[in-house]
Amino acid sequence: MPWYGRHLQRATVSSTAPARLLPKKSKTDKTTSSSRSRQGVSKIQTQEFIQQKFADYYRQNLNSIQPPTSIEKREFAFLLFKEKTMLRHKGFKDAEEFRNLLLYVVPSDVYYSSAYYEKPEEEMDSKDWIGADLVFDIDADHIPTPCNKQHDTWTCKNCGASGRGAKSEACPKCAGQKFSNVSWPCPVCLGTAKEETIKLIDVLDKDFGLSTKEMNLAFSGHRGYHVHIETEPIRTLDAMARKEIVDFILGIGLESSLYDIEKSEGPKLDDYGWKGRIARGTYELLLTATQEQLEKADLKKRTSSQIIQQRDKILESWKGKGPWKMLKGMGPNSWEKMIKQAIERQSVKIDTVVTTDVHRLIRLANTLHGETGFLKIEVPIHEIEGFDPFKDAVAFKSGMVAVDVSNAPQFRLGDNVYGPYSNQKIELPTATAMLLLCKGAAKIVEEPMHVQ
Ligand SMILES: [Zn+2]
Ligand SMILES: [Zn+2]
Repeated sequence: MPWYGRHLQRATVSSTAPARLLPKKSKTDKTTSSSRSRQGVSKIQTQEFIQQKFADYYRQNLNSIQPPTSIEKREFAFLLFKEKTMLRHKGFKDAEEFRNLLLYVVPSDVYYSSAYYEKPEEEMDSKDWIGADLVFDIDADHIPTPCNKQHDTWTCKNCGASGRGAKSEACPKCAGQKFSNVSWPCPVCLGTAKEETIKLIDVLDKDFGLSTKEMNLAFSGHRGYHVHIETEPIRTLDAMARKEIVDFILGIGLESSLYDIEKSEGPKLDDYGWKGRIARGTYELLLTATQEQLEKADLKKRTSSQIIQQRDKILESWKGKGPWKMLKGMGPNSWEKMIKQAIERQSVKIDTVVTTDVHRLIRLANTLHGETGFLKIEVPIHEIEGFDPFKDAVAFKSGMVAVDVSNAPQFRLGDNVYGPYSNQKIELPTATAMLLLCKGAAKIVEEPMHVQ
């Protein structure tokens, strides 16, 4: 057990903790860099630098860190900088107690349980589960994007083999299954995640009848968005019930009677639930898909070129009974293939495990993400379209930091584009430097430097 484990488990923590355990006093970037050893800067010193920045941030913004509702019923967990160990099963009676420990520990990441417990500090078996919020996680890691080959890398922990793009199930060289991977917050990936989030909100609103006031939306601080629902009736849903919700959102197991165009008129654009979604997905597909995409959906070449030629007529048809019976060459089989594509487009790419887990630990809003130095930040639902994580989630807004970058792809932060970098010493705005440092792509530089 780490030094603070048992010691803090029951004690009321005050900020008058032993001096050696408290985060070091803040220094400016320049003095920090120049006072470092002339002998190369170690990984630990870089980690200390990051932690000190986090400590400064939390000290200066302490009141913005709001604990979750029903704080006394939540389990808290802190991922520690040192050896990346997790300090779990913490409980707090109020915000002050929580903030004191936050300042005392200065973790790389802060989590709380989506669950409510009678005894949050006990081991899992003895916590006495009362209920849990309904949580959705949309992460670019779960959505294939064309750019992940450009900015993501993986390294096999067993044989050291490495490659670009998202990691596969097993190492191609040694079949090992443990990887360390570096993924980047990228505008394309986050744009895709945002589109999925907008789709999710639409389903929750229109199909589940939840008002946007009941939904709490946040940028995760890295590669995605979270939607939380705390409404009383959903709290006691068990894992199976949550799985049903997940299946609905993914469009799994839909009855073919929903789109049986032989026996029915076919779905209409304003139909409720999946019927309407199928119609709208098909509408979008018929109007926007390229010949190539249509052929990929297994449609014959002649059929797909007919669709493209007849777009005006198809558009017009939705005012009446839709295109289901009017398109030549489109029999029930072709429609079924197209509808499958439409369902795929309309389904929301949520991380299913997060929603069905009734004991999940969730990152706390307004805290820093240890992999980026960005904030997990709440986004008012009506502002999602214009939300820019590369501006709005930036925590470190002033100063410059000199870093030694080993390797980084090109990326945008604020209005500037940085990199790509390869073995380069450079002075960067603090937020940019922090991203590189947190990603393990850079170390701090031991002495002040001049940059052209
Ligand atoms: Zn390997
Ligand atoms: Zn990307």
